[in-house]
Amino acid sequence: MRIRTAEFIQSATRPSEYPRGNFPEVAFAGKSNVGKSSLINALLNRKNLAKTSSSPGRTQSINFFRVNGKISFVDLPGYGYACVPLALRRAWKPMVESYLQIRKELRLVVVILDARREVSPEDMDLMDWLDHHRIPFLLVLTKADKLSSLDRARKRRSLQENPPFAGTEVLFFSALTGEGKAELWKKIEEALGPQE
Ligand code: GDP
Repeated sequence: MRIRTAEFIQSATRPSEYPRGNFPEVAFAGKSNVGKSSLINALLNRKNLAKTSSSPGRTQSINFFRVNGKISFVDLPGYGYACVPLALRRAWKPMVESYLQIRKELRLVVVILDARREVSPEDMDLMDWLDHHRIPFLLVLTKADKLSSLDRARKRRSLQENPPFAGTEVLFFSALTGEGKAELWKKIEEALGPQE
């Protein structure tokens, strides 16, 4: 997609704060530090629109961005950050699950994993939950620039041969090289439906 405009709209912790307007949405989820902000910024050709989670307290809200005035990108707070106080960690689940369950505009969740690392229990919980609630999601393995082609083939196989990933689409991505960007945009556009 050609990005004409991309702007931050709103932060929300509860449904009454979600922006109105009925624009189709794609949400991005992943462990803190996985490369979620870098991925969003790369998709939108921006350097600092989505903020990195280096200050954990600040990122515990859902951030909405409007793209080309007609679709929304939703940056869900990163999970699994050990330094986040327990109270904040506990708040993550109801905040994110409410969004995922309530939000009618949601078309796709991009679940971001680190291509070099094992899938964590929190990642598994999220995917099981999405699967259970029949919310469409896509697996994106970021920081792919750190993997050899042999490692990629192994990784793809190990994910696709094991439940709950069997048959799930897996995309390799790199915010550094731009690898996978066109492919991911294609998937997002397919999920969001025709835009005039
Ligand atoms: P977030 O906490 O999930 O938003 O993660 P960030 O986008 O802040 O990225 C965390 C760290 O990973 C930063 O040091 C980034 O420079 C690095 N990073 C993010 N994406 C990539 C990538 O595609 N390749 C490489 N090599 N490093 C990346």
